[in-house]
Amino acid sequence: MRETRLRFPPSPTGYLHIGGARTALYNWLYAKKHGGKLILRIEDTDEDRSTEESIQGILDSLEWLGIDYDEGPYFQTEFAKDHIDAAQTLLTKGVAYKCFCTREELETKREAALAKKGHLGYDRTCRCLTAEQLKEKEAAGLPFVLRFKIPERTGLHSYNDEILGRIQVDYKEMDDFVIVRSNGKPLYLLCNVVDDIRDRISHVIRGQDHMTNTLKQVLLYEALDAPLPIFAHMPLTLDTKKAKISKRSHGEIVAVQFYRDKGFIPWAFNNFLALLGWSAGNDQEFFSKEELIEQFSLERINKSSAIFNYRKNDPKFFTDPKAIYFNEHYLRTMDIKALGELVRVELELDNLWDDSYAGDREEWYLSTLDLIRDRFHTLKDFTTLGRAYFADDFTVEEKPLKKNILKNESLKEWFPELANRYEQLSDFNLEETERVARELASELDIKPGILINGMRTAVTGQLAGPSMFDILVTLGQDKIVARLRNIHLLFA
Ligand code: GLU
Repeated sequence: MRETRLRFPPSPTGYLHIGGARTALYNWLYAKKHGGKLILRIEDTDEDRSTEESIQGILDSLEWLGIDYDEGPYFQTEFAKDHIDAAQTLLTKGVAYKCFCTREELETKREAALAKKGHLGYDRTCRCLTAEQLKEKEAAGLPFVLRFKIPERTGLHSYNDEILGRIQVDYKEMDDFVIVRSNGKPLYLLCNVVDDIRDRISHVIRGQDHMTNTLKQVLLYEALDAPLPIFAHMPLTLDTKKAKISKRSHGEIVAVQFYRDKGFIPWAFNNFLALLGWSAGNDQEFFSKEELIEQFSLERINKSSAIFNYRKNDPKFFTDPKAIYFNEHYLRTMDIKALGELVRVELELDNLWDDSYAGDREEWYLSTLDLIRDRFHTLKDFTTLGRAYFADDFTVEEKPLKKNILKNESLKEWFPELANRYEQLSDFNLEETERVARELASELDIKPGILINGMRTAVTGQLAGPSMFDILVTLGQDKIVARLRNIHLLFA
């Protein structure tokens, strides 16, 4: 039995996007489920496009998601010698050959083939060079690439895909593909296999965009006398117009870091990603980490593409509503202490954190979060919509300001009066605060709602929220009295 070893090998040519994150997650889940290992390998051989910033972005994103790895990060460029040695082995074994055809020659051959509607692949001229011809060309110092010799076989070349079944192609259709460029650099296709062999990878779970590579790579494994890993090619993640999600065409909306910065909860985002292309086979939507590890299986990965349903110009949803839906669920139901830790980070970022929230006011802090979380969508809402609970310099939103305050000029007198009465209360509790407000409304012969809605706006800045008297008690006597007395400022 082979050890279960998976890998996640991103190319650091941009941020980690949701398609890549989903691949990482599925590999991680599989490794965890089967007691295997996950190896992180940064495939940085494309020197022109790989950047330090991308490497850091990928590492940060994985850390935020909580996708940890058992080995690595390894860097592909550090194994250049292995790649060259493997190419040399293939040449020595006679399964690769030097091809001296120039770019122009190849182009001419291609055009001729096109004209004849023949096979467009390389015509294998250099595969048939005599020993003498070869020597001559080598002596002349002509540049060459190394090509892999497609075996002289008839019939179908195939491999088994755990998700898609048997994948096959006629040997006749296969081209002697290049494995080393004329500058001596091995191609990604070869490096990737050499690294997977060295890292003893048992399962390759990756996107369907790599399937054409896989048919060639299977031949490389065979030629290098290495056992084949199990392959599983996942359907791609597409946008609503069925275009592949990519860093280049979709921008930050598909970047994992975008969701971190927008106040998403890491596990909620993993749960969303997990269901983007996989299901448990029933209606279950929410999975704890343990449940997901337990239930995840390659067989239940969808065969068709996943759709990332984001609406570019919809002001209500800045991303796929499903992503927000998962976030809301966790935000509103998760363990309050765990939420407290996440909100702490947001408060710290905005200089709103107070150490007493982790000390003698912890109970107040957690019950406040519990009170306000029901209407919130992201962690950012605690410092924006919920700012009034943690600071005095909150914004009063325009709509409730007009509706609940400015329409009633008399609030300028009523609220200071209410403040005086609230100040007198020896027990500032739910019943007393409500009794006093209703009493004043009845004396003034107005609907209590005028005071209640006005207060909500004056003390929280919001149109809607938890029950008003809960808010009063939570914010406390001093703050409420002060905010009611300051009502004139809202008319300024
Ligand atoms: N470096 C490749 C990519 O980012 C990974 C290919 C593979 O999984 O084998 O697409």
